[in-house]
Amino acid sequence: MKAMLLERLGPLSENPAPLRLADVPVPTPGPGEVLLKVSVCGVCHTELDEIEGRTPPPRLPVILGHQVVGTIVGCRGHDAAGRSIPRLPDSSVPSSVGVAWIFSACGRCEYCRTGRENLCPDFRATGRDTDGGYAEYMAVPAAFAYPIPAALTDAEAAPLLCAGAIGYRSLRLADIRDGQTLGLTGFGASGHLVLKLVRHRCPKTRVCVFARSSEEREFARELGAAWAGDTEEEPPELLDAIIDTTPAWKPIVAALERLKPGARLVVNAIRKEDADRSALLGLDYPRHLWLEKEVKTVANVTRQDVSEFLELAAEIPLKPEVQEYPLEQANQALLDLKQRRIRGAKVLRVSNET
Ligand SMILES: [Zn+2]
Ligand SMILES: [Zn+2]
Repeated sequence: MKAMLLERLGPLSENPAPLRLADVPVPTPGPGEVLLKVSVCGVCHTELDEIEGRTPPPRLPVILGHQVVGTIVGCRGHDAAGRSIPRLPDSSVPSSVGVAWIFSACGRCEYCRTGRENLCPDFRATGRDTDGGYAEYMAVPAAFAYPIPAALTDAEAAPLLCAGAIGYRSLRLADIRDGQTLGLTGFGASGHLVLKLVRHRCPKTRVCVFARSSEEREFARELGAAWAGDTEEEPPELLDAIIDTTPAWKPIVAALERLKPGARLVVNAIRKEDADRSALLGLDYPRHLWLEKEVKTVANVTRQDVSEFLELAAEIPLKPEVQEYPLEQANQALLDLKQRRIRGAKVLRVSNET
């Protein structure tokens, strides 16, 4: 099968084409796993963190990609404990399933047993700890694949699996009520979905968007942001919560200054880049932290986050703005993401939808 392989790590500035198109064997599903024929795979900022070594894959080469939509074309029938896994769908009615960042969790630890499988010490990530969806086929545990609601096309569904699901989790952690004010710093795939979701769930909430590029700010206004300004610009009011989706530190310091007393900053980033780390020296206790301001990070997603959000998205309906690239142009899509040529979400087209 065709796959885009990551063979060595390094900054994109030194190697702007880190993935190589290769012909590799179709994976064999293990016990309890199903084989997917991939239709589309979303492109996520986390792929840049993997390529540049901030969250390095444990083995190379690896196939990236954790917002995968495809159809089930094979399975092993039974899991390791001998339980039968969901039957193959009737082949006359092809239906899509999705795979998200959570590839597996142990199911036994204190976190897994209390609805926090995202914090499991044995958490395995799709497209980092195991091969992902930048390929024609991938294998996944049946218990970690989600039916895609019929209201969504595969390309619309892909960005919901990470950008959307983690945005949904971030919004839950931000804990805002209708009528309170929300800030979004960074306005990529996740930010734009959170804005759409808030407009639906909390119609009286005013959303202020902080973004570096004027295109992103314009896009935010189009989608109903009450205000959009540059990262360090002063919004018209202080905010009850801010969700940060940037790879940098400066927006964190700026955001803390824009919070009301007792308000919360939710940092939705798996890693931060080092370039502007010195911005943290500008942290001033009374201005940025005192008055019971809180900082909370978001880590991974649970299966519940993903399935709840998919259902919600189909019901609203909430559809992401999607830009498609052929699989072979994955390097270009990643470069565009790195250089913030963003409007909505990027998706790789691997095969046509059935
Ligand atoms: Zn992601
Ligand atoms: Zn666990």
